[in-house]
Amino acid sequence: MSGDLTRLTAHAMADRLRDGEVTSRDLTEAHLDAAEAGNHALNAWLLIDREEALRQADAADDRLRRGEAAAHPLLGIPVALKDLISVRGGQCTAGSRILEGYRSPYDAHITERLRAVGAVILGKTNMDEFAMGSSNEHSAYGPVANPWDLETVPGGSSGGSAVAVAAYHAPLSIGTDTGGSIRQPAALTGIVGMKPTYGRVSRYGIVAFASSLDQIGPFARDVRDAAALLHAIAGRDERDSTSAPVPVPDELIDLPASDDDAAVGLKGARLGLPKEYFVAGMEPDARRRIEEAVAALERAGATVEEVSLPHTDYGLATYYIVAPAEASANLARYDGIRFGPQYGEGDALGNYLATRGRGFGAEVKRRIMLGTYALSAGYYDAFYVKAQKVRTLIKRDFDTLFEQGFDALVAPTSPSVAFRFGAKMADPVSMYLSDACTLPVNMAGLPGISIPCGLSEGMPVGLQLIGPAWSEPRLFALARGYEAITSGAEWRAREPAQLALTTDEAQPTPAERAAALAQR
Ligand code: GLN
Repeated sequence: MSGDLTRLTAHAMADRLRDGEVTSRDLTEAHLDAAEAGNHALNAWLLIDREEALRQADAADDRLRRGEAAAHPLLGIPVALKDLISVRGGQCTAGSRILEGYRSPYDAHITERLRAVGAVILGKTNMDEFAMGSSNEHSAYGPVANPWDLETVPGGSSGGSAVAVAAYHAPLSIGTDTGGSIRQPAALTGIVGMKPTYGRVSRYGIVAFASSLDQIGPFARDVRDAAALLHAIAGRDERDSTSAPVPVPDELIDLPASDDDAAVGLKGARLGLPKEYFVAGMEPDARRRIEEAVAALERAGATVEEVSLPHTDYGLATYYIVAPAEASANLARYDGIRFGPQYGEGDALGNYLATRGRGFGAEVKRRIMLGTYALSAGYYDAFYVKAQKVRTLIKRDFDTLFEQGFDALVAPTSPSVAFRFGAKMADPVSMYLSDACTLPVNMAGLPGISIPCGLSEGMPVGLQLIGPAWSEPRLFALARGYEAITSGAEWRAREPAQLALTTDEAQPTPAERAAALAQR
């Protein structure tokens, strides 16, 4: 029974809760069991909080019994949070040693929202340190394995959140996306991941990486579930000055359940196919999956025209000035005095250097150095100001197309499927290239979603849809349409190929697998 419960969508769970067939406690126990059983082989979780989750489940069951009017679809539904989201009294490591033992004094805005709708927080998921990375190998708490092939990465930086959903430990999870960290791991693990418009979700209570780019968003196994989770967390919050006073559209919880109705949404849609997103070095078979998806969209009544986003090529270089510059400022607060452990027994400066020297990993130090350099006197205009100007050009490319009436752009999410542990660790630039198709969307502040569109040599491929600002309802409707027209596809029915191995305690941990691969 418990195995079955974890296979349901959040919407199906909600129906059973309302019909009294299951309780939130049943659902929560089933998922806690799955998470505990699978975490040795996957390392997706940094905290599985059984006691607190069951307490929340019982509270949700009370609300359900009282027949709470206007209950949100997520009442009583389990959800996992990336470990950079503050939960009052709980850990918040951001995947870093420098925040080991730190306890959040308050709830993040989205934690408050999830509590308000009655979702059940199962625990905190593994991630690249300070959300810097595309493979989850930069976590101070060890890598995360991809259940499709345990020798490969799940993508990053929200790899733990993606794997928790892909491996049926949770129907829903939360990630953050600064340059692709929701969409890319969603693509690599075969699930849905959405980065909302900048300002749609309050960042209050989230560990900041690059504040002008960071957005919080949902992971789920289908489009309706992802939209419902965004519905729960979106909306204006005056504690984040960049949170926009834009109402939360109720269409997000009204997407068609029937495939026939959903497919109708594609008729007459005008989609652009940006040629620059088929980057040099893109895997040919992954490219074929995208082309097949485009053909399917056309058969369903959408028109797809090739378009150009001429400044795409500059996205990577621009991002790797702007994001590290903001990170270097945001991470200055980790001084060993205000947060986490302090190392060294010297004077204040000695302690500061020792704490940051031991507390931060190599990738974080690399970003701080890049950012500090780009902001330093004499280089500020040449690098940072220049990058901000190019950022405007990237945004204008998108504006021009959307002014011409395109509903959305269709593109690959990632140039490759999941790669082996260690494949890109020695070459940071090759790692950075994983996000060539997602970074520009953050630079422009736009919403983007990745949905599964098939397999390449047994590994998931993601299709990305990018829309104008605040077009989330339309973007989800198009994604739901694509899901509907492919609902009968053979690959849709497949579970991650090595899922069965993940509950075998005799399997190596992801860190052991990575070490063994490095020996070969
Ligand atoms: N992979 C990109 C980086 O390392 C994006 C990370 C993110 O979106 N948080 O910066």
